[in-house]
Formats: sequence, C-alpha cells, structure tokens
Amino acid sequence: MSFVLPLCALGASAPVYAQSDYDAQFISWPTYNGDDLELTVDNSGTHFRLWSPKAQEAVVNLYDNGHTGEPYSKLNMKFDPATGTWSASVPEKLYGKFYTFRIKNNGKWLNETPGVWAKAVGVNGKRAAIIDFATTNPEGWSTDKGPEVKNFSDVIVYEMHHRDMSMHPSSGIANKGKFLALTEPGTTTPAGEKTGIDHLKELGVTHVHILPSYDYNSVDEANLWQNTYNWGYDPQNYNAPEGSYSTNPSDPATRVREMKEMIKALHDAGIGVIMDVVYNHTAENDGSNFELTAPGYYHRHRNDGSYSDASGCGNETASDLKQMHDYIVNSVKYWAEEYHVDGFRFDLMAIHDTETMNDVAAELKKINPSIFVYGEGWTAGDSPLAPERRALKENVSKMTDIAVFSDDLRDAVKGHYTDASDRGFATGKPGLEETVKIGIVAATPHPQVNFKEGNNSKFPYAASPEMIVNYISCHDDLCLTDKLRKSMEGEPEENMLAAAKLAQTIVFTSQGTPFMFAGEEIFRDKKGVHNSYNQPDSINAIDWANKTKYKDLFNYYKGLTALRKAHPAFRMTKAEDIAKNLVFDKIDSKKTPNLISYSLKNHANGDSWKEIKVVFNGASKPQVVNIKGGNWKIVATDGKISPDGSLGATQGGKITVPAYSALILAQE
Ligand code: CA
Repeated sequence: MSFVLPLCALGASAPVYAQSDYDAQFISWPTYNGDDLELTVDNSGTHFRLWSPKAQEAVVNLYDNGHTGEPYSKLNMKFDPATGTWSASVPEKLYGKFYTFRIKNNGKWLNETPGVWAKAVGVNGKRAAIIDFATTNPEGWSTDKGPEVKNFSDVIVYEMHHRDMSMHPSSGIANKGKFLALTEPGTTTPAGEKTGIDHLKELGVTHVHILPSYDYNSVDEANLWQNTYNWGYDPQNYNAPEGSYSTNPSDPATRVREMKEMIKALHDAGIGVIMDVVYNHTAENDGSNFELTAPGYYHRHRNDGSYSDASGCGNETASDLKQMHDYIVNSVKYWAEEYHVDGFRFDLMAIHDTETMNDVAAELKKINPSIFVYGEGWTAGDSPLAPERRALKENVSKMTDIAVFSDDLRDAVKGHYTDASDRGFATGKPGLEETVKIGIVAATPHPQVNFKEGNNSKFPYAASPEMIVNYISCHDDLCLTDKLRKSMEGEPEENMLAAAKLAQTIVFTSQGTPFMFAGEEIFRDKKGVHNSYNQPDSINAIDWANKTKYKDLFNYYKGLTALRKAHPAFRMTKAEDIAKNLVFDKIDSKKTPNLISYSLKNHANGDSWKEIKVVFNGASKPQVVNIKGGNWKIVATDGKISPDGSLGATQGGKITVPAYSALILAQE
C-alpha cells in the first residue's frame, strides 16, 4: 500500500518485500512520499508532519535553543491513518526556533528525536532547526553548476577528508579542517608549493569525493578544541551537514552556508563534488532517529527480531521496504537540488537492493544528467537480503548508470589488502597478470581475457566500462605509500616511488573511471596505520612539505591526469569498443611474469593517436619487449611522462623496460 503525491512520484519499481518473517509485518504499513515530511514553512505558518504509522501519540516540542533549556511549547499531533502521518501546525513562521518529536509506542514515550528529515540542526544534531534556506545561499548560487560530464569514464576522482587536506601547519590554509578550507585561493606551503583548491586545479582531477559530510555522531561539536578525528561513517542526520566542519556548529545556518560555499568554490574551479553517503546503517540502534520515529521499520531484522548486521556496525537498513526506499531516493535528490552535489558514493552499496539503486540513478538523472553514482559492491557481513537482489559488484549489469569499485585491479596491482607484506603485480609478485587485465578492460567481456583465472570475480561482470571505478587505494586499509613501505621493506625508496608511479599508471590508463586517494600524489603516508578512522591528525593529516620532497612524483601524477584527459582512447564508453580496439600482445606470463603489453588501436574512441602502446613491467628487474616497427613517440618511460609524447622517438624493435616502470608509446 502506498500513497504517492504526484509532485515527487517515483519510477515504477519501488520495491516492497520483506527479508525475514519478522520484517513481513512492515509490508502492510501505509507509506507516505510527500515532500512536506516533518517540516514546511510557508505563508500560512509552520507545519509538522511525522511518518509514524504505529505510534499511539505524537508531540512536537518547540525550543528557543538548539541544545539546552525546556520546550517553550508542546504541540499535540493528529493522526491520519491513510498516510500513517501525524500533523501539527502553528500560524507563525518559526525561523530561529528548534524542535524535536516524541512518540508513544507500545504504551511508552520514547526519547526525543529531531526526526529523520532534519535539514538543519543545533549543535551535535539533537534538535532540528527551523531556518530560511534562501538566506544560506552564497553569492551567485542561482547560476552555480558543476562540471558537465559527457561520459562517466571522463571523471577523475580524488577522495579526500576535510581534516586530512588542511590540518597540517604546512597547508598554509586558514580554515583548517573546515568546509571553508577549499574556498581559500592562493594557499601555499612555506616552500611556495600550492595547497588546497589550487593544488587540486594543478593536479587536474575532475571531481573530489568528500568523506561523509552529513551530520555524524562521533565528534563532539560542542568541544571542538579536543580535535577529535573521525571519518564519519556513523550517520546521525542524513540531510544536514556535519557541524564540526563548520566555523560555528551552534548556528544551524552556518554549516549549510559554508558547505555551499565550498561546493561553489570547487564548481568555480571546474571541479565536481561527490558525497560519500552511508544509508546502509545508523550509528545507533534503538537510539537512532529511525527507531525513535518508526520503531522497527527502517532496519532489517533476523527472524527472531534482532537487528541483522550486514554493515558490521550493529545494524543494516531496509531499502526493500518502500518508506526506506523513498527515503534514500529523496535524500540524494535533496542534496543534488539544495547543495548542487555532483555525485554520490554509496558505502556498502550491496546492503541496498538493485531496484533502489536504479531509482536513485534515474531520479538523479532527471535533476542533472552529469551526476555520477557509484559504490562499494559488497557488504561487510551477511544480509537477509537475497544475493540476487543486492547491489553487488557482480550484479552491476542489472543496474543502469551505477558504477562499482573494482577490487580486482586494487588487490592485483599492489598486493592483497588483508596482508600488509603481500606484493602485487607492480611490486614483483608473479601470477596476477590476468587479474590486472580484468581491471584494464574494466571487467567487460574481452576475447583475450580469461576471467576464470582472475583472483576476485570470475566472469565479466560489467556490461560497460562506465560501470567500473578502478583504484589501488582509498581511505580504507593501508594507503599506497604505507603498503609499498611494508611490502617492499628493505628496498630503497626510489624503488617504492617507481612502483607507485607504475601502479597509478595502470589505474589511469585502464578503461573505466580512475579514482585516487588524496595525498598519494605527494607520497603521503599514514604512519603504517591501516584503519585510521578515529586516529589523530598526526596520523591522518597530509604533510604538504612532501610536495617539495616528492615533486617528481607529483609532476608524474599531473602528467597522468593530463594524458588521460587529452586521449579518449583511455576512456572508451562501450564494451564492444574495448573488445575491438584494445589488443593485448601475446606474452606467456608463466615464462615472463609481471609483464603486460597492449595496444589501443584504430584511433580508439576518436583519439588523435592512431595507436597507443602501453607496457607495464612490474618485475624487480628490467624486461625486454618487442615493439613492432614504426614511428613511435615516447609518452612515458622509466618514471617520466609527457602527455604530448615529447620524451623522444623510437622505431620499435627490442626495447628494455626498467624495473617497476611503464612504457607508453604513440603513433599518429
Ligand atoms: Ca555531528
């Protein structure tokens, strides 16, 4: 049963099915998808409408203050059984006031909650705030727009945490750890190297992916002097920005305005903003806003009624039930419309069902076709959701306009994430060539790739390269620098720098969308800490002095982004084009391990170059390749790169590729 207002009517496929006998009870609950949930302010006053079909009573508490004092008024709410919602109104516009809801469930009054749709909140997000959003827009907001994206394989993602980017004294940034850090032009290190937003422009990435920036639970916003660090995968209020990234968490409008200012500054620099979203679980179980508004409904349960836990964080949400499905869809739509967000990265996306993800992408496309949606195509534990319904990596071809991270390339290039000392293709471990090739062809069907020999997925799961995000590291697990230091222990640092270049060259020349972790372009490390989610800034902050020390590495990364942007052959959009234009050279990896060579032929994807030869030598010794005769420009060799191919020329023949390095040649 559902009651959909025409204003935000959804596509046809909103799923309703239960995953356990216990959860079957929720299917019959009336749902409500109006855009007036919880709070609206208009000329007739301030209106509250809470979805809570089984509550016995419901009230709104009105406050003058965002976190202290008693309510100055309590409004009794009236129930509408058809929609399962409770309503109350006052004739005044209550801008500047705060509110909470309280419901009576099974004869007991539950704790106060700001609801699940609080778009502005007081300090620490315990009370919702009533603000006029029109006053939060920076100058020029009405015409603000992110970069236009023709194909998702054109995107280059830079994953960053607000504190990592700006906290170190060497950043030269004034608003350290704040949204505003990325609005400061002209910031430099003491040695004069660009930092912050100017650094991003110089590097040439197209999008930043910001770690969770909605209001999360773990940092005490009232005591920011403690400098508590957290990644933010502990969601509290999904539709309001995190307070600790604002200059004044006590003023509800400040965090909204400052997040918009950050997005505006990045858009003005031609850079899109992707939000990391974590709808798959909540920080608290019974104490979550979901449970305090509609107990039982939004989370999945086992047959015995206990919380199921596919997130590994104590619970998982139920996108298979309509009100939760609509919640996820409407929440991302809200961020896209109010904040002009350009993309969403779904944490543990496989906890959600494929139908929900398809509706997410379809609805976002109506707002802005450039919005890029991708996610982790896996869960962190078993779920009652049937595997065929999960938005798994292996199910990506059942989805439209959704991409998944390829762990194939990640684990094969640098070594497995579960074993710090394990090496990968780029650091001399043999036997991973076929898995690397799976990454190179973006897991699309290819006549020369034997998926059965792959280490992770055993079949070509992507119907299109636009379904794949290729990467070798992210905030999780050892960052690339630390992984190289652990796995290449005893070798000189120059070998690690060479391997870093080779590894990232594989990502940036592969089909699909490349993704990199902030700071790796200047050999940033995290002092060997692999799970740094709550570690201090001394572990997590990027030391920008590295930009001077590792200038050569930074310039190489700059070359990689420039090469990829200039040459569409690396950014094909159809699986058939890859199968036709990407041709591997025959190399017996049993006899000659850690060597991959392929051509991008036929002016692939409209490239100005007729043929591009790409060779990776991941061995700890030089290896020889036989390049067919012709006039080749040298684009990359021995740790140097030139996007226009000005490193020299060769006529082909036998060419020695140094240890841990890439060779890229091009023919007009
Ligand atoms: Ca918070």
